[in-house]
Amino acid sequence: MKSSQKNNKKKWANLYGPVPSRRLGFSLGVDFIPFKTCSLDSIYCQLGHVPDKIVTRKDYIPASEILSQIKEKIDSGARIDYITFSGSGEPTLNSEIGKLIRGIKQITKIPVAVLTNSTLLQHNEVRTALSAADLVVPSLDAVTQDVFEKINRPHPSLQISDIIIGLKKFRQEFKGKIWIEVLLVKGINDSPLHLKKLKTVLEELQPDRVQLNSVVRPPAESFARPLLLDELEKIRDFIGGRCEIIATFDKTAQNLIQKSEKESILSMIQRRPMTLADLASSLGLHRNEVMKHLQFLDEKGDIRLIRHKGSVYYEPAKK
Ligand code: SF4
Repeated sequence: MKSSQKNNKKKWANLYGPVPSRRLGFSLGVDFIPFKTCSLDSIYCQLGHVPDKIVTRKDYIPASEILSQIKEKIDSGARIDYITFSGSGEPTLNSEIGKLIRGIKQITKIPVAVLTNSTLLQHNEVRTALSAADLVVPSLDAVTQDVFEKINRPHPSLQISDIIIGLKKFRQEFKGKIWIEVLLVKGINDSPLHLKKLKTVLEELQPDRVQLNSVVRPPAESFARPLLLDELEKIRDFIGGRCEIIATFDKTAQNLIQKSEKESILSMIQRRPMTLADLASSLGLHRNEVMKHLQFLDEKGDIRLIRHKGSVYYEPAKK
């Protein structure tokens, strides 16, 4: 890697991308919490098992530090359609999130999106913190406590009924768009009874969109299996209204802008199978950015994943 590239990676340590996102076009990712800082331990989590779930908010990284990185990134002239809070866990656990969103609004008109697991929306201060965002994408995989515990393995203090009340309050108060994401795992949250209850809650919540997803990245648990497209289509038709299956991003655009990174990944794993963490540190890229490349290579059939002693490794597909 050239030294100027290395300096840029360091300068923008809490940012990744802009990466082509399936939903948001070219999205500049903001990751400002320590790796695996989350209130849940979802069975499908791409970060792996979350050993210490937390619900207490903290100023992990000051807003001012991230704001200067975002400003420099915008000034570099990169195409950015959205500034998106997501990354290594639950972004609302950083108590600086409201200050940072308001700070971004003072320096740019680029819309701000927040991807959240919804667990903290029951707190007034969290709903207020997100009020300046343009788009919030809260997850809602379960509407009953038993399914919630099976799929999201929450912090013991969390009750799905409180989370749904928090979502309803947020819907009433928030002026921006809300797209609820439901991630479906085979045999876990896709029973007709659970889907019926989910549909009722979604009708009460009235989000701008409902987006159905399934397990597309290596999950924390190998038993977290995806649904087939025709199964997702039936569920989309059942939920109706503003429900859609998240479509795959235009691969041509992705291929054009990230060719060199993909070639680097392929040449590295040709030497030896590597984990996501190995690849991120060797390439000097954020894990989420490497994950997007791996997903693309997987869809093309260029790589395959193998599990060994609890870790997921990537290697070239045998052709
Ligand atoms: S909410 Fe997101 S980061 Fe947290 S465990 Fe679930 S998938 Fe992983």
